Amino acid sequence: MIIVSITGPSMPAALSQMAASRRYADMFELRLDLIERPKIDQLIAHSRRPIIATCRSVRQGGAFGGSKVLRSRTLEEAANLGAQYIDIEYDANSLVIKRHNDSSGPKVILSRHYVDSAPRDVRRLFWRMLETGADILKLAYYAHDAADIRYAIEFLRLAAREKRKAVAIAMGVAGEATRILYRKFGGWATFAAPESGKAAAQGQLTARTLRLLYRAHALSRSTKIFGVIGNPLGQSRGIFVHNPLFKTSQVDAVYCRFQVKDLSAFMRYVSSHLAGFSVTIPHKRAVMRFLDVIDKSSLAIGAVNTVVRRHEKLYGTNTDASGALDAIEEVTVICGKRMLVLGAGGAARAIAFAAKERGAEVYVANRTGRKAKRLASELGLRAVPLEEVQKVQYDVVVNATSVGMVPNPMNSLVPKNVLRGKIVFDAVYNPPLTRLLQDAKSVGATVIPGTRMYANQAALQFKLYTRTKVRKERIRRLVEKVGD
Ligand code: NAP
Repeated sequence: MIIVSITGPSMPAALSQMAASRRYADMFELRLDLIERPKIDQLIAHSRRPIIATCRSVRQGGAFGGSKVLRSRTLEEAANLGAQYIDIEYDANSLVIKRHNDSSGPKVILSRHYVDSAPRDVRRLFWRMLETGADILKLAYYAHDAADIRYAIEFLRLAAREKRKAVAIAMGVAGEATRILYRKFGGWATFAAPESGKAAAQGQLTARTLRLLYRAHALSRSTKIFGVIGNPLGQSRGIFVHNPLFKTSQVDAVYCRFQVKDLSAFMRYVSSHLAGFSVTIPHKRAVMRFLDVIDKSSLAIGAVNTVVRRHEKLYGTNTDASGALDAIEEVTVICGKRMLVLGAGGAARAIAFAAKERGAEVYVANRTGRKAKRLASELGLRAVPLEEVQKVQYDVVVNATSVGMVPNPMNSLVPKNVLRGKIVFDAVYNPPLTRLLQDAKSVGATVIPGTRMYANQAALQFKLYTRTKVRKERIRRLVEKVGD
């Protein structure tokens, strides 16, 4: 069930939130602590969905500063007016909980919120909450890292074992997956925002996103989980590519974002739930030590961007390299060409390695010169100082640095005169037409945007994840649509 939290703050705003999100909502939660002078009867009459009445205290992350008695009275009023569920906080008087449990009135959701941390002992908490006899048990806490979602998974596992309805949500960006995967882990429902910018809690997704992008309502225990791990993940487009592809290819899978700071903790506590994942900055190299098998090219590149689980073994590979080179080879044959690669990070390593493999003469230049020298000596390439790139003639110029990426899209490392008549490829895909590519176009060069590389590498990943082929044009359209 997708429950939409109605937050107001005014009555007209609350009513319009209901109207805007009704088609995506199975139920509404009235946040009576956030709506000013709520007219509960009007809200219920307008809802056309079952109602949860909630009056969250300041201590539990809400805005209600009154006494417990007043809070209880507000909920009683909502119950009398027809709310089907009332949210009672864990610290409420046990007699109040018992009275509501015993009554034939609304069902009780017993909730426990940790505003800025995870529960210290999730099992103990679960058993204590269970003892109250409440109909539905709800845990919400703050996740600082994706590894923290394990507490929500554990809470739901215990509830399923005891055949109890439960909700477990990790708030914050790092907990996002728990809002999507509730059905996968046996949860009763998830909570969603009515519109963007109207979230009742940190990291809350809109009901529309949950339903249309993630199809959260249609996932089940057998759904395979994929995702991207990295930090930060703001630029990541994988969710907008893989989820629509799963849908059209009728693959029972979902792709989520996992904001991972502590890679060891994630691999230990969460990765076993995933059937595969993409790896981005800063974990492409570090992830290698957790894998069972790594292919030869990825070992030589020294970075893995794709991990798949096969028969309980983790296989690592790198789709960046062929993603980029295939994009360039759509316009020219690489063998025998002179190529300048700007950068000495993960993408530059992958591209330079693959270009040499395909017969190019590769030059590398980087802001930190010693890194370019090291890369050149490791892979058998030539290093040139960044200030001297004009001195050599190239056929292909590749930007594999983050220069030109939002929020600084007007930056470029290469003077226009170096680009005249060349083939210019930019690995940066946000924006799709970077300053470098604009300059290149203006002097008659052939340009290849980073979205091409992204689409190629995503197509390879999708095939590895699902053993299903998709047309590159379809992926390209999805990638370019995100940039609109
Ligand atoms: P990385 O490992 O962090 O390397 C970053 C590179 O950018 C380094 O060479 C760094 O130079 C250079 N750099 C950063 N800021 C700079 C500045 N202000 N001036 C000059 N050089 C600067 O990152 P990565 O994984 O290689 O990614 C690089 C870019 O490729 C990113 O924009 C990423 O989004 C893009 N990418 C695209 C795709 C795709 O599918 N299209 C796939 C992978 C990556 P120093 O060594 O001096 O720090």
